[in-house]
Amino acid sequence: MSSAPVPDASPDITGGWRFDNSYVRLPSAFFSRVRPTPVSRPHLVLFNRALSLDLGLDDATLSRPEAASIFAGNEIPPGADPIAQAYAGHQFGNLTRLGDGRAILLGEQLTPSGARYDIQLKGPGPTPYSRRGDGRAALGPMLREYLISEAMHGLGIPTTRSLAVATTGEPVFREEPLPGAVLTRVAASHIRVGTFVLFSALGDIDSLRQLVDHTLARHFSDASPEPAERALALLKGVVERQAFLIAQWMRVGFVHGVMNTDNMALSGETIDYGPCAFIDAYDPDAVFSSIDHQGRYAFGNQPSIAGWNLARFAEALIPVLHPDSAQALAMAQDAVRQFPDQFRKHWLTAMRGKLGLFHEEPEDEGLVNDLLAALLASEADYTTTFRGLHPTLRPERVPAEWHARWTARLSRQPQSVEEVLQRMRAHNPAVIPRNHAVEEALEDATRRADLTRFHRILQAVSRPYDETNQPAELLQPPPAGTPRCTTFCGT
Ligand code: AMP
Ligand code: MG
Repeated sequence: MSSAPVPDASPDITGGWRFDNSYVRLPSAFFSRVRPTPVSRPHLVLFNRALSLDLGLDDATLSRPEAASIFAGNEIPPGADPIAQAYAGHQFGNLTRLGDGRAILLGEQLTPSGARYDIQLKGPGPTPYSRRGDGRAALGPMLREYLISEAMHGLGIPTTRSLAVATTGEPVFREEPLPGAVLTRVAASHIRVGTFVLFSALGDIDSLRQLVDHTLARHFSDASPEPAERALALLKGVVERQAFLIAQWMRVGFVHGVMNTDNMALSGETIDYGPCAFIDAYDPDAVFSSIDHQGRYAFGNQPSIAGWNLARFAEALIPVLHPDSAQALAMAQDAVRQFPDQFRKHWLTAMRGKLGLFHEEPEDEGLVNDLLAALLASEADYTTTFRGLHPTLRPERVPAEWHARWTARLSRQPQSVEEVLQRMRAHNPAVIPRNHAVEEALEDATRRADLTRFHRILQAVSRPYDETNQPAELLQPPPAGTPRCTTFCGT
């Protein structure tokens, strides 16, 4: 993944930490050095053993109760060089100067396979970018991020991961006092569209150029563009990865909920899980964030919002795209204009997979859209409808006329029914983290310190394409009449 030279950092025996911190080698405008604020009673509630092993960490040491002091921010692991990163962002469209207000990057862990991952604490206390915030996080939203990010990973969708959750023993004050917690997040990087937007808005062209080089080295090391083409290569690479990512979200019914430009990672990973959820009934207007009154970040708006964010990214790059500003603008526009077609290509590929189609026919898009229109009209559940489609069984949830068209389409490809079903099972999850079940599990965890339901869902979503022995409440839509729970955005 990384082309940056790997220094001879040797693994630390007390945890397997092997940090190399390339971000702190960038100019000081990129970050502020800051220490987590110690908490009174750190307690480890979740630790991701499988992920820790991938990272080359010592799972036996770090899963012990004493390791809570690291995951709550009381103790800094060896080799870490903690910083808060500077960035800006368009929040619901409005440009704001932000930065990590409640996150601290400990450093970049070098893994045994030679990859490099950011290890970040979310909720470890104030930073120079906290503005009026407390720098803290509540347990419920950190558990939600842990669960949904691991579910996305299980679904095979690029995402940041979650290594640990530690409670602090201290309350955080939102509308009411809530238990405080710190999440340890693992990301290919935390470089955002908003990071570029900051330096562009400041007119700091040197920093912009360095950020282009840094991001290319970190995420697009296979490309080796000429110096004059580096910014364009980055722009095109980011557009392509976002087209793929958003198509994957649409495939599984994921609603991110707060697609501000500070929440779009250049790595192409899903990042910053706030008021996110999976749809039950198919509904392009579905919104789960209690503050998204206009539906800006509704399920069906995600492709166009991603395009909007990429336009802001391209705009930020204009000073480094070409010395001639008219040329630079034309290059930026041209790259962003590719997005809708690239998205459509990835989306159609994903939807063909959901319908068990192996080759392309011009009528496929109509076939998909007609099914979606039927689902919308009948308020059918997105996940179970696709999972339940069967070429030789009488249709239950889809119109008979549509089913006949689909089976006629299937008959024009050589694959057997078994092959078709196998392809469908690999693209249609049986299990998603149903929002009503997630809410109940978070209630249990935060009000009664009972993680039984949480662990049941976590285990289920780690193998989402397999329905055997899965909890019934995750295999079915919520009971009729269950209101759509909304999630407060001030997570
Ligand atoms: P988010 O909506 O979580 O992506 O956060 C948007 C911005 O607000 C980021 O710069 C966060 O660091 C900051 N922020 C969110 N919550 C807090 C908090 N409790 N204290 C300080 N800053 C915060
Ligand atoms: Mg954010």
